[in-house]
Amino acid sequence: MKVLVINCGSSSLKYQLINPESGEVFAIGLCDRIGIHGSKLEFEVPAIDFEIEIEKDMETHKEALEMVIAALTNEEYGVIKTVEEVDAIGHRLVHGGEDFSSSILIDEEVMAAVEANNGLAPLHNPANLMGVRTCMALMPGKPNVGVFDTAFHQTMPAKAYMYALPYADYKDLKVRKYGFHGTSHKFVSTTASEIMGNPEKSKIIVCHLGNGASVSAVKDGECVDTSMGLTPVAGLMMGTRCGDVDPGALIYIKNKRELTDKELDTRINKESGILGIFEKSSDCRDLEIAREKGDERAQLAIDMMTYRIRAYIASYAAAMGGVDMICFTGGIGENSSLIRSESLKGLEFMGVELDQEVNGVRKKGNVKLSKESSKVAIYKIPTNEELVIARDTLEIVNG
Ligand code: AMP
Repeated sequence: MKVLVINCGSSSLKYQLINPESGEVFAIGLCDRIGIHGSKLEFEVPAIDFEIEIEKDMETHKEALEMVIAALTNEEYGVIKTVEEVDAIGHRLVHGGEDFSSSILIDEEVMAAVEANNGLAPLHNPANLMGVRTCMALMPGKPNVGVFDTAFHQTMPAKAYMYALPYADYKDLKVRKYGFHGTSHKFVSTTASEIMGNPEKSKIIVCHLGNGASVSAVKDGECVDTSMGLTPVAGLMMGTRCGDVDPGALIYIKNKRELTDKELDTRINKESGILGIFEKSSDCRDLEIAREKGDERAQLAIDMMTYRIRAYIASYAAAMGGVDMICFTGGIGENSSLIRSESLKGLEFMGVELDQEVNGVRKKGNVKLSKESSKVAIYKIPTNEELVIARDTLEIVNG
């Protein structure tokens, strides 16, 4: 079985050809700067350590996908003879609103329902749908499956997802917490449960810390709360996103600086977070290097970031009446021993004991980071969102 996983953005198309059963990645890559001058295709075959970059202008996503298909079937370095070998296509779809609580086989009706949620993710949903349409046009007859970032969080109870705004805003405008990174939270919490021996009852907290970052509370396999909201700007402090802020502060800044809606949107999504405080970079590695050199803003940014992660962990432990395992994933969660260690500082009262020595050693795969005496297990679990998409696609195609 071969599933082509597509993650289509407004000017990019990421892809992987995967065996959903074994997890083997046949090929992986990206088309960048679609519709912008200087576009290129990156194509990699991990099994033979082969990599190629082809610079060619791609005006549309159709041209990009044509290049991907040409690379996949290339006589010299391709991994399939013809596109017929692709059994199904799995698409990352960002916002399913309240309409989708699981992955789904895409047809016209589904596309219309996703389109109806475009207002909730104006940058992502139209691009995602363009990817679906392009695949349908270039690979007719293949099943296309949609896997939503929001679906895993649809099990949240109303007390967790409602905002204390006029109820009419929920009823008329669908304003509520949806949460994002669902495929990652699902993959990591499922892996955590497997590590625990798949108990019937479990309380897991997943910290997905990357450029975008979110925490989720997963009780008995179901998400009961998550830190992102109606949009992915809520919750933790991120690379360039502010996370939780007093909404009154935003109105104040908007008025004082006479910002347009778009300017305010840019401010909270692209100019805040690590970048906003540190001012030199949004990258956690740069932040850590600067902190080592005594940069006070870098220290402040790290303190703010980890204080908030810690507060979310404690709050979700309270929400679930305890926690069995805390998992770290994402570029920062998987790689930064400093951020993990700072985030857990002070949680000893909950029975959280990090093994500093193990935490400080870089090791691939799932790694237990807690001391034997720790009441709460702490793990680093590398996420694999593409594999979740490929597995969901297989499950749906197999009915
Ligand atoms: P992601 O969005 O999941 O790809 O994560 C990107 C973030 O991970 C960036 O802020 C990187 O600086 C951070 N990152 C990657 N490797 C490391 C590392 N070794 N130490 C600290 N942060 C890292």
